[in-house]
Amino acid sequence: MKPFTYERAREAPAAVAAVSKDGAKFISGGTNLLDLMKLGIERPSHLVDISRLPLREIEELPDGGLRIGAQATNSDVAADARVRTRYPVLSQALVSGASGQLRNKASTGGNLLQRTRCPYFYDTAADCNKRCPGSGCSAIGGFNRMHAVLGTSDSCIAAHPSDMAVAMTALAAEIELLGPDASVRRVGITDFYRLPGDTPHIETVLRPAEMITGVVLPPPPPGRQLYRKVRDRASYEFALVAVAVVLSAGEGPIDAARVAFGGVAPRPWRSVEAEAALRGRPATMATYRAAAEAAMRDAVGRGHNDFKIDLAGRTLCRTLAQAARSG
Ligand code: SF4
Repeated sequence: MKPFTYERAREAPAAVAAVSKDGAKFISGGTNLLDLMKLGIERPSHLVDISRLPLREIEELPDGGLRIGAQATNSDVAADARVRTRYPVLSQALVSGASGQLRNKASTGGNLLQRTRCPYFYDTAADCNKRCPGSGCSAIGGFNRMHAVLGTSDSCIAAHPSDMAVAMTALAAEIELLGPDASVRRVGITDFYRLPGDTPHIETVLRPAEMITGVVLPPPPPGRQLYRKVRDRASYEFALVAVAVVLSAGEGPIDAARVAFGGVAPRPWRSVEAEAALRGRPATMATYRAAAEAAMRDAVGRGHNDFKIDLAGRTLCRTLAQAARSG
């Protein structure tokens, strides 16, 4: 591992100033960054530890929403009574991710910024445009069972690994950012992540030295919330396909719906196509199938991951049916 210096930041503005130096990086729980450093994929010369910043609170907002501090751990957010009752899809997504030990360390901000688990990204002997721009993509034509089917490019087909971010996408969360000039801005989570295009190494719209300070959840949308994750084993595994659903359906047609997928795209994938196919339609399996077809219309398999297209559609149908039954 490349030698590095370390400091612990006490206040957010000081942290942002400290990370403005060349080669500096933030570290919080370190549950992804330390692995990347050991493999030589990340090579910071200076680490700014932001885990003790006063950004752990989960606060009520006047409009009925919640603000989650960026340093709140995944465990704390999942267990928060307000999250569990008003945003159960977020709590369900969080507890489906990683392990208890990792959730105790992983921060909200760090979860949003975790890197793909594409095995070629972690194999420094393999070509990978994300790790080494211009070198090629070993997953295209390689073993790509875990890879994305939506939003990919000929440069990268990696899937985003987060469960939490999928639920936050269905909840239309906004990410609060602090810049080195003390500027504060909010970015909708869908706009926060970039698609790979021909620059897959640039994953977000974060500006140099900008830090995530919190996530703002708008007031809960009407309807029943559910998160379903399909994976190769029951725990401590990334999603093959995940679906976050918010469905508002009474006796009549569906009033409102939110749909976001995980495991199928380079970013948490909100499907406005599926939502449009659900709105105003009866809550029946035929409607769910139409929504699944709309969601996957532009999906492209690369061989080993072809099965995800069908699996994502069926997972959506089953999740919607469960949400409608228990609504
Ligand atoms: Fe690298 Fe992306 Fe290709 Fe994986 S899919 S090898 S991360 S460029």
